[in-house]
Amino acid sequence: MTSEEIRISPLKMRQAQFHRAVRHMGHVKRGLIDFFLRPKRTLSLHFPVEMDDGSVRIFRGYRSLHSNILGPGKGGIRYHPKVTAREVEALATLMTWKCSLIRVPFGGAKGGVVCDVKQLSQPELRRITRRYVAELGDNIGPHTDIPAPDLYTSSRTMAWVYDTYQALHPGENNLPVVTGKPLELGGAEGRDEATGHGAISALERYLDLHPLGDTRGLGGRRVAIQGFGEVGRVAARRCQELGARVIAVSDSAGGIRADHDDGLDLDQVERHKAEHGRVEGAPGSHAIDNEALLELDCDILVPAALANQIHRHNAPRINARIIVEGANAPITPQADSVLQERGITVLPDILANSGGVVVSYYEWVQNLKNETWSRAENLARLDHRMQEVTAEVVNRLEAMRGQQHARRNPPDLRTAALAIAIERLARITLERGIWP
Ligand code: NAD
Repeated sequence: MTSEEIRISPLKMRQAQFHRAVRHMGHVKRGLIDFFLRPKRTLSLHFPVEMDDGSVRIFRGYRSLHSNILGPGKGGIRYHPKVTAREVEALATLMTWKCSLIRVPFGGAKGGVVCDVKQLSQPELRRITRRYVAELGDNIGPHTDIPAPDLYTSSRTMAWVYDTYQALHPGENNLPVVTGKPLELGGAEGRDEATGHGAISALERYLDLHPLGDTRGLGGRRVAIQGFGEVGRVAARRCQELGARVIAVSDSAGGIRADHDDGLDLDQVERHKAEHGRVEGAPGSHAIDNEALLELDCDILVPAALANQIHRHNAPRINARIIVEGANAPITPQADSVLQERGITVLPDILANSGGVVVSYYEWVQNLKNETWSRAENLARLDHRMQEVTAEVVNRLEAMRGQQHARRNPPDLRTAALAIAIERLARITLERGIWP
């Protein structure tokens, strides 16, 4: 089976989830549903860049704003050869639901440039970024649409975004035009940890409300994590701090399973990864492939790498009791149904990985006020927010289960989270009034 056979269009996936949630909601005007299914606008750009060898290449870029009902657009910029308008629209839509659910006053947006960063020099990437930002013009801004890093872009890229915008808008405080900046340029302390930390914070709260067996919390639980990047590594550390045993991790080169029941020594895994560029070969572990990692017998599985990892073919073989979606869309809608039938709980991406946008919002607030909050303050505020919203989603699911049609269409946490997000957006749209 090739990955193409299990790759579901991200837009189709979001629409399927959206329709499922709408079936469980109170009355929402039909026109609003249609409105929410489409982005407000998607810009498609072509621009020239002078390459290091003196040639000129044309690049294609996009920026989609799904909604600005709750506030300015918010969403990353990705650099990847496979970026498409459809993909950025699906990701912008996801940002709208995340912001609405987690109650940050932003709408959803996303952007991208079609390019392969591995084939480009730093000066070429800087020129691509500057020209892309210049072409976007006033379609981004501290109060209109605020980019952030995403696939193959970093705090360095965001520094160029800020610098370019600042050059075009001198004499104003432009720091809040972009988040994910380097710390010395107004970035938020703890932003790199926010998504992984927030995912485990949501899990902690869930386990408070629905303990696994007799013990509360993560103590002694066996955790497997796919992906050992910004999200996966922090999630692994946080699980261990809370007493769990991390029994397996993986990266794009392969996975490892701890030789002993007390789990992996994460210091050693990190050291090995820093030296060899892969987790495979870390002391106290043996190699397993990524497919086997997903199917391990464990309490908690955190897919924190790519989309479409759990699909209808492997869903019947998943052996975790709870799945925490660190990555965006790691579970296809068909797999969702299989997991639900098998009694496996999924903490959905719009809740579990929303920690990044929460701390991005804190960065924006600090930039507007010319303040710097400590890492501890950012993460404590994040914990509070994640735990509060997780409880809201769990309560909503319980209320949904009591409704008549729940037997025919059993709701899950994703349905409950989306219903809260969609209803909030609908309510605020109507409170503001449809213009004119
Ligand atoms: P990252 O690039 O830092 O790490 C990704 C990790 O996944 C790397 O360790 C990579 O080796 C691994 N990986 C790649 N292909 C793999 C494969 N086939 N099998 C196993 N591992 C593989 O990225 P990240 O920031 O950690 O993001 C991970 C996921 O979380 C992405 O889907 C991203 O969109 C999503 N996400 C990230 C954030 C954030 O704030 N970083 C926020 C929301 C969602």
